[in-house]
Amino acid sequence: MTHPPLLNPMFQNVIDMDLTSTQLLANEMLSIADSSAKVAYLAAAVLFVLSLAGLSKQTTARRGNLLGIIGMLIAIAVTIVAMLSAGHTMAVYTMMAVAITAAVIVGAILAARVPMTGMPELVAMLHSFVGLAAVLVGISSHLEPHATVPSGELLIHDIEIFIGVFIGAITFTGSIIAFLKLRGTIGGKPLTLPGRHLINLTMLAGCIGLGIWFCQEAHTADGSHNENGQAMTALLVMTGIASLIGVHLVMAIGGADMPVVVSMLNSYSGWAASAAGFMLKNHLLIATGALVGSSGAILSYIMCAAMNRSFISVILGGFGGGGGGPAAAVEGTVTEFSIDDTIDMLEESNSIVIVPGYGMAVAQAQHSLAEVVKILQSKEKQVRFAIHPVAGRLPGHMNVLLAEANVPYDIVLEMDEINDEMPDTDAILVIGANDIVNPAALEDPNSPIAGMPVLEVWKANNCVVMKRGLATGYAGVDNPLFYKDNTQMLFGDAKQNVDAILRALQGS
Ligand code: NDP
Repeated sequence: MTHPPLLNPMFQNVIDMDLTSTQLLANEMLSIADSSAKVAYLAAAVLFVLSLAGLSKQTTARRGNLLGIIGMLIAIAVTIVAMLSAGHTMAVYTMMAVAITAAVIVGAILAARVPMTGMPELVAMLHSFVGLAAVLVGISSHLEPHATVPSGELLIHDIEIFIGVFIGAITFTGSIIAFLKLRGTIGGKPLTLPGRHLINLTMLAGCIGLGIWFCQEAHTADGSHNENGQAMTALLVMTGIASLIGVHLVMAIGGADMPVVVSMLNSYSGWAASAAGFMLKNHLLIATGALVGSSGAILSYIMCAAMNRSFISVILGGFGGGGGGPAAAVEGTVTEFSIDDTIDMLEESNSIVIVPGYGMAVAQAQHSLAEVVKILQSKEKQVRFAIHPVAGRLPGHMNVLLAEANVPYDIVLEMDEINDEMPDTDAILVIGANDIVNPAALEDPNSPIAGMPVLEVWKANNCVVMKRGLATGYAGVDNPLFYKDNTQMLFGDAKQNVDAILRALQGS
């Protein structure tokens, strides 16, 4: 039985025409929105590149940061607009809104609260989030492969998923171990299991085997998604093994090599984000991940070169533990200095070099120190800062603190620029530094930091080391510098002692 038409055919035609044109208009708008999103993503990627270029110099770092923030705001705005126009249910929007709001609040509170000395821990924790995100994106992409992928590209997509989850899992657990090591919850001594390289190789071979199984099982012969669950088993077992590799790799790295680990995990997190970008077909995520991945790898390489370590050896772990034999015993007599002794020494010196370290950051002595420097300069003395590449707890840590205290850039020199001038220096003030001025790195082949270039402060005429006691530094290595003939110890909190020096100089 046929139903009578609900509308007069003439009106029906008009409605059909209207629907068709509405559809065309909607399609047209979607295509414009898609192109605009691509242009906006491209703009954001360019801003990220300019941001990295700006961050390479102290004078342009502020602008670099600003460009990065603008790029990230564009990226987030475009992603939110794309998400809103994707036609999800209200429940999905609500979940996303709750997740984003919670993340923004937690992130803002953490960033506002973290002290400068806690930054590496925070960074390590953030890297672990990127790793975890890559794992979750990979698993969910496998669960819903047809949503975005044409059938001809399924194998490539499966490989992307597998590699993304692999890198993500290593980054996740490696970063958690790095976080615990930086926090001091786990000791800095490297865990060197017998046959550790073989263990790593076996786990890697296992993952490759699981990868082949995963790719075979993920789809049936006609290319559709295989529901038998074996692919998921392969993926989850590999995730477990890769997580173990992450733990093992970072546990095997010694305290003094932790700066390289942090930048290396930074690089891994970039590659994990890039892999997630491939899975989600998000070009900006691919580009941003590649930028982070490659810049992190370059930074790791530069830091390895600065510490005289081979990149491959640090990645494979087991370094930072010494040359095999016991480290030489450190003994001798310590000469103690008072504030007055230190002032006398400074008054009698023409060339003065200041070596800041982690203790200056803890004590927040940089502002008083900047005032001390101004007074010494007004007395016609040449005052310069010597910065070790791994001083403090993050790359550029000392430069940031000195910039914050308005110390002019031209008196802040890198280790390579000033080390040769130590023998011609009248006085050195070492403020809260330890590992970076440890002569054992050059004199004791069995020292855990053997081979690491250090600031050769003991070659100057006089050296005053300001710290609270004779405790070791981050690498946990005793320091023979404290017992050298031309070294004097000014014990106490760095800020209190620098304040006392400042008061004395202001009164003189
Ligand atoms: P160290 O950690 O070797 O030594 C810092 C010294 O500061 C300690 O020995 C401590 O001695 C002293 N100190 C702490 N608080 C105060 C205070 N309030 N007043 C005065 N002194 C204080 O620091 P360095 O900068 O010499 O070396 C950095 C180390 O950190 C290297 O081993 C490096 O590999 C590692 N590292 C560096 C990272 C980076 O990216 N830069 C990241 C992770 C690790 P005392 O308790 O006796 O006062």
